[in-house]
Amino acid sequence: MSMHVIFLGTGGSVPTGARSLPAVLVKRQNEQLMFDCGEGAQRQMIKAKVGFHRKMKIFVSHMHGDHVLGLPGLLQTMALLDRQKKLEVYGPEGIKQFLECVRESLQFGLTFPVEIQEVYDAGVVCEEKDYTVEAAKADHVVASLAYAFAEKPRPGKFFPEKAKALGVPEGELWSKLQHGDDIKLPNGRVVSPSEVLGSPRKGRKIVYTGDTRPFRGFAKFAAGADLVIHEATFDDALAEKAEVDGHSTPSQAAMEAKRAKAKKLVLTHISARYADAGLLLEQARKVFENTLVADDFLVLELPLPDS
Ligand SMILES: [Zn+2]
Ligand SMILES: [Zn+2]
Repeated sequence: MSMHVIFLGTGGSVPTGARSLPAVLVKRQNEQLMFDCGEGAQRQMIKAKVGFHRKMKIFVSHMHGDHVLGLPGLLQTMALLDRQKKLEVYGPEGIKQFLECVRESLQFGLTFPVEIQEVYDAGVVCEEKDYTVEAAKADHVVASLAYAFAEKPRPGKFFPEKAKALGVPEGELWSKLQHGDDIKLPNGRVVSPSEVLGSPRKGRKIVYTGDTRPFRGFAKFAAGADLVIHEATFDDALAEKAEVDGHSTPSQAAMEAKRAKAKKLVLTHISARYADAGLLLEQARKVFENTLVADDFLVLELPLPDS
């Protein structure tokens, strides 16, 4: 099952000709998960050929304009395109009031329900059959959340010869075992999935930091992530400014990815002062080799791990 991460906006604070404001979209099966929704997100979606009618959840890190001002436009575009499916929005305190104010003052009617959930504490904010999204408190100049998307382990590989040897007839009973259910044979013998399946296979994990200084507990929160999407607004020479403004530098982000034993790091929320992000990449790679700096419309595919 394929999963793609599409960087719709990779700038910080103000857009540039090359970088739109923060928005990262994870496409998985028939669902889209968006992390932050900077201004113009819906146009970036059109350019990236991402649809407006799919099942969708949006996770907002914090109530700074560059991360939320895309929501009104996106909602309005969806309504004009006659979206019917519910849209779920998660974010810090204030997100509900913000969207209600906009809807009232612009008087736009929506064609679909919007379910808004404010997140006050760290922990699981959304649990689906095969994945969870967890929030952690980041360290910015206003309340800010980092999010971890994690798939639940998948059942192990199925060994048909083991099922046959146990006398399980091919068909429905095989499928039940593959889905993790016990079955009962006509002779009364109960066969459990562990008798015919290999050990459970790991799911994929993506962590999105939003705006933050390096924060306590990150290594545990992001442990083993396939992909860490970390902000790196300023280069290492501006570490003091980053500290004051509640941001991170490339080597700080890289250190966090290293501590978390992440597989890959992508830097985003790049300040408009860097026309060329080569310096940021160089600084991060000294600490964590498998790093990229995101550009708008960068697409990463995360294949399912075999084990
Ligand atoms: Zn920002
Ligand atoms: Zn911010």
